[in-house]
Amino acid sequence: MTTSATGSQLEPQYHELAAQAVAHSLNTNSDRGLTAAEVRQRLNQYGENELKAKPGKPAWWRFLLQFNQPLLYILLIAGIIKAFLGSWTNAIVIWGVTVINAIIGFVQESKAEGAIAALAQAVTTEATLLRDGQKIRLPSREIVPGDIVMLASGDKVPADLRLVNSRNLQVDESALTGESVPVEKSTAPLQPDAPLAERLNMAYAGSFVTFGQGSGIVVATAGNTEVGRISQTIEQRSNLSTPLTRKFDKFSRTLLYVILGLAALTLAVGLGQGQTFAGMFEAAVALAVSAIPEGLPAVVTVTLAIGVNRMARRHAIIRKLPAVETLGGATVICSDKTGTLTENQMTVQAIYAGGDRFTVSGTGYSPEGEIRELRELRERLPVALEECLIAGLLCNDSHLEEKNDRWVVVGDPTEGALIAVAKKAGLSQSELVESIPRVDAIGFESQFQYMATLHELGSGESVRVGLETRPYGSGEESKVIYVKGSVEAILSRTRQMLDRNGNSISINRAEVEQQVELMAKQGLRVLAFAKKTVGDNQTSVDHNDIESDLVFIGLQGMIDPPRAEAIAAVRNCQSAGIDVKMITGDHITTAKAIALRMGLQKDGRVEAFEGQQLAQMDDRELAQAVEEGVVFARVAPAQKLRLVEALQAKGEIVAMTGDGVNDAPALRQADIGVAMGGAGTDVAREAADMLLTDDNFASIEAAVEEGRTVYQNLRKAIAFILPVNGGESMTILISALLARDLPILSLQVLWLNMVNSVAMTVPLAFEPKSEGVMQQPPRNPREPLISGKLLQRILAISVFNWILIFGFFEGVRRNTGDVTLARTMAIQALVAARIVYLLSISHLGKAIALKIRGRKVSISGTKAIALGILAAVLLQIVFSQWSVMNNLFATAPLNLDRWLICLLPALPMIPLAILVNWIDRPE
Ligand code: ADP
Ligand code: MG
Repeated sequence: MTTSATGSQLEPQYHELAAQAVAHSLNTNSDRGLTAAEVRQRLNQYGENELKAKPGKPAWWRFLLQFNQPLLYILLIAGIIKAFLGSWTNAIVIWGVTVINAIIGFVQESKAEGAIAALAQAVTTEATLLRDGQKIRLPSREIVPGDIVMLASGDKVPADLRLVNSRNLQVDESALTGESVPVEKSTAPLQPDAPLAERLNMAYAGSFVTFGQGSGIVVATAGNTEVGRISQTIEQRSNLSTPLTRKFDKFSRTLLYVILGLAALTLAVGLGQGQTFAGMFEAAVALAVSAIPEGLPAVVTVTLAIGVNRMARRHAIIRKLPAVETLGGATVICSDKTGTLTENQMTVQAIYAGGDRFTVSGTGYSPEGEIRELRELRERLPVALEECLIAGLLCNDSHLEEKNDRWVVVGDPTEGALIAVAKKAGLSQSELVESIPRVDAIGFESQFQYMATLHELGSGESVRVGLETRPYGSGEESKVIYVKGSVEAILSRTRQMLDRNGNSISINRAEVEQQVELMAKQGLRVLAFAKKTVGDNQTSVDHNDIESDLVFIGLQGMIDPPRAEAIAAVRNCQSAGIDVKMITGDHITTAKAIALRMGLQKDGRVEAFEGQQLAQMDDRELAQAVEEGVVFARVAPAQKLRLVEALQAKGEIVAMTGDGVNDAPALRQADIGVAMGGAGTDVAREAADMLLTDDNFASIEAAVEEGRTVYQNLRKAIAFILPVNGGESMTILISALLARDLPILSLQVLWLNMVNSVAMTVPLAFEPKSEGVMQQPPRNPREPLISGKLLQRILAISVFNWILIFGFFEGVRRNTGDVTLARTMAIQALVAARIVYLLSISHLGKAIALKIRGRKVSISGTKAIALGILAAVLLQIVFSQWSVMNNLFATAPLNLDRWLICLLPALPMIPLAILVNWIDRPE
């Protein structure tokens, strides 16, 4: 990225020049593209076509930001006051703990950000280029100036282009110009002073093709593009804030004010009772630090990041972090049929042409198999059947390849099936394409449901078709348009059909429709074929050309088997209380048949609606339809938005899949927009919250499962952390108000909340999913994070902890008269009970409990908790046995007897934990 290709002001700009002049000035050929050698040289010269990610904030700044929390201000100030009061060790320990806390937070945040950034990197955008005369797909990064780029609707424009071709090309340039209405592009040269927004013959990097096709010469890449000039860098998307973390921030802030108020009150009351300032200040600080769950923010971040990673391992890539939480609450999943619920492995099984029905054997795209009915009439294919197969071959943008003994389709599976079946009848795609060359085409778009191609026949010449040579075309009408598409799209444009021998007769609509219904009932995807002969002077094909007078050729019905994993995933969703709805552009009967095979029926019935019906419904009727409906067929992309809105109006949390250009609004509106990593367009991916790398419905279900696990683990962490804060603050508040010695000092509280809590809580983020996770109904989206039952549990355990600390402290002091020893033992006892409590809510504890009852259980996924407990135990030993710690934290070493006594409170915790679990497990 050294020189700007546009260079000085005097040189003409690309939009002023004719396309050929641009090609010339960039030393390229718009029909063949660059050669490999040229590409290599230009890559060296211009660098990769990639805007650098904005360098994040420097590490030292991010570290300092860790201190930017109200709680830490309090600690820092408390340290200063302590220092003034002369207790320097206290001050240093307080500051030391805040630094350690900041380090932990910093490391965890960096890791989480790194993981999310890496995922975003893993999704590369690709572009279709012309190089060495070949069409190839490459990562957009590898584009150089002079490359020829092909654009199709749904693509993101990968670099600045001077357009050479435009077929109704429309581009959304809102990212650049702010204008949200797509611009219709052209190729003619423009005035030199045309502003950016009016340069119709240019397509700029970062805009999206919303319609049509085109191609252009790359005139600028990376930093030299118009967007590149506006901002040399792109925002790194690794913002860790989500609705949940924001809720947490708000919660901590409120808590903080309450605590500050209480602390001030304690101070005032104590001073009023004539206690010393130093003593009461200690109590106020201890109260403030005790009540706030310092370890929690770290746990939230880690839990979310781990969720993101687990989802990625199961083929769901999160693009927007809040989706992790939302996924867990999904109540409805609206999924595409083709490719997501089904394999997208199409095989033609039935053909109807010239009034005859044929069945086809074989599986996949392999040419093994035959048209069964042909066995008797070996010598010759009936003309109508042959035409039907030829139409499928010619009106086709895909081809088949044999890879490792397997036939695979390069392009659209629907089209692959048409090639395979023609091959079974002895027709070869390459021969036909040569003898009946294509002149022009309209590509398939969901919106129109058809594709059309214009072909040259040569006047009255003979063409070799399969095994024989025969005359093709007649006299002056020497071009033909082949059309394939949905039955509705084709039939409405035809009045005639071919009979068995290829003569045009008037169409028997009822008969054709009956044949369609027959195929669709078997779950076959039905495509209709038609043709139209046109004059030799016609050089292009347009939507108008096929509005009428098509001659119907026939039907081909192809099977697309349901994905086995998807069937299982649908079942899981159902037991998890999640509705699965199929939204498809396919025929209603086909869709219903597949829905039945997928197990989508409710009470044994599949309620199905067609797009047209939906269009006529008012909001109330629609609300009813989205509730009852399982299948929505022949749905236009624009209708998906209405479906999402109707579902959301009913309070549902909606996950919606989409892959086309026009799906973007629905994906944005859905609570979780899901795009396909494989088949999806750039537009859809950009709008989505989540990408499926395998395009598989089962991955959505997996992501929901992980989303639920994230939520469970957060609830576990809260259920675990808060009771200790509760117990500590009750202890301090009551003791201070009763003017008794504090059973626990502020430094010790810091130790418990920051060191002990982090060691034991962070592992909860790694907890495996519980078996029942997909057997419960979805969480009520309006339910607060800390539900009533969770709050009761927190209070119950808090009271237990208070009794424990207070009781131990008072008991030991009475017996020994040693305040330091009493405090130490109270803390150790608290941690002992805490370990039991941790086990009771963790997977490890559950496994142990089951084991005791003699059941075989897996303990996989419990390592983190075991390590956490081990770390906590070691830290506690150091805390009281090491003389340095004794000085820093005012603790006393314990002998073995005293250690054993400290373990006693773990015993009453067992029945208590069982009781609260019995009332409500936090998962
Ligand atoms: P879906 O993917 O949900 O099945 P589409 O919008 O892709 O829906 O397809 C809608 C209809 O358009 C199909 O039922 C079929 O009849 C027709 N169709 C699909 N693919 C092609 C294609 N490549 N060429 C022509 N028609 C097609
Ligand atoms: Mg499709």
